[in-house]
Order: sequence, then structure tokens, then C-alpha cells
Amino acid sequence: MPIKVTIWNEGRHEQTDADVRHHYPDRIDGAIATGIRHVDFEIRRATLDDPEQGLPDALLNDTDVLLWWGHVAHDEVSDGLIDRIQQRVLQGMGLVILHSGHHSKLFRRLVGTNANLAWRELPEGDLERVWVVNPAHPIAEGLPPYFEIEGSEMYGEPFDIPQPDDLIFISWFSGGEVFRSGCTFQRGRGRIFFFGPGHETFPIYHDPHVHRVIANGIRWVRQKHTDGRRLDNWHRPDPLPAR
Ligand code: ZN
Repeated sequence: MPIKVTIWNEGRHEQTDADVRHHYPDRIDGAIATGIRHVDFEIRRATLDDPEQGLPDALLNDTDVLLWWGHVAHDEVSDGLIDRIQQRVLQGMGLVILHSGHHSKLFRRLVGTNANLAWRELPEGDLERVWVVNPAHPIAEGLPPYFEIEGSEMYGEPFDIPQPDDLIFISWFSGGEVFRSGCTFQRGRGRIFFFGPGHETFPIYHDPHVHRVIANGIRWVRQKHTDGRRLDNWHRPDPLPAR
């Protein structure tokens, strides 16, 4: 059975910014979809300006793993949609939060903090060296000890998140900063993977290492059962018979 992956991209920069269109003529979600084409994935693409903000119930309920890229329009995402996505995650839908999605209502709701961080955007970018600090983790499969992104937006510590369950990547930047750029959280039955690299004015979503990380992340957050089984066990059961 293929993994049903929905790539949700806010999609606003691509409408207004020629620089972004230059790197992403098929939008950011298009570059990611192309990069992670794989027989295991059945990929759907959605944006904020699609009907029902891109995620009608029929699609959300048929999604094994949701990818989330947002930046300038976090506040436009309806609280009702955030409620529905949160419940899907608690039932077991996998979630991959990309780059500026750290400040989305969705991520902040799920982790419970503001998820603030330090950042710097230079025209030519900073060199980002992404270190694999947990090479045994499935999300690091097939990666070298580190990989480099020549031009990247600097995301630095302190990153205001709860203690992650797994820390897989730590990035170093040419300005001297460090950042927990790959980490995971479990909420209810659902797994969440945050991955830092991916700014809209740099061609980061064309990088094969980044594709590898995202594909690994999708496989890892995917749960076989997303029907929320045993989550309804709040009822009062009868005592088990004595032995
Ligand atoms: Zn950015």
C-alpha cells in the first residue's frame, strides 16, 4: 500500500515574489513532490487558497502523512482547520513541519510553546552544515555524517520548543550559530518531525540530501493505523475476572 502523502503549502510567496517563482516555478510543494517521487508515496498537493484552505475532511481523513510549509499567512489558517488537523495527529496521522512552519498555529498548538528562534536572512545566505547527531535514527538513513547547504537562512538557538523526543540533526552556520534542525515529538498516537532547512528564496527544496531527509521523515512519522484505535478507552471497563 502506498503511503498517502499530502503536501500542504501556503503558496503565497509564489504568487507575489518573482525571486521565489524563479527557484520554484511549480511552487515549493511542486519541488518537494518531484524530489520525493517514490513508489511508496501517493502524493497530493494542496495550498491555502484551495477550497476549504486545501484540506477538506475527505482529503485530511485520507492522509497518512501531512507535510506543512507556511510563512506569511499563518494567521489566516482557520482555528477550525487547526482543530481538525490536531485531532488527526492525535489519532496517528504523521506530520512533517518544514522550515518556517515552526511558527504555524499548527506546530505551536501541538508542541505547546511559541517555537521562537533566532534568524538571519542574508541575500547570499549563510553556509549551513547539517550534522547527523543520531546516525542510527531511521530519518538519518543513507545520509553522510554531515551535508552542506551553500546558501541558507540562519535559524539559531535558543529554539523555544519542548525537549524533543529524538534529536537527529544539529546545524552549524557560518555566523557561528547552532540549531536543532531535525527533531521529533510524539503527540497522542501521532509522530511529528520538524526539519529546519527550506527558505523560499533559496533552492533548498531541490537539494537531494533534503529530499532524502523529507522522504525518510515521511516513512518514519507514518503509522500503519491512523484510525485512533484504543483512543476511545476512556469508558469505565468492568474489572477483569479474578484468576
Ligand atoms: Zn525562511
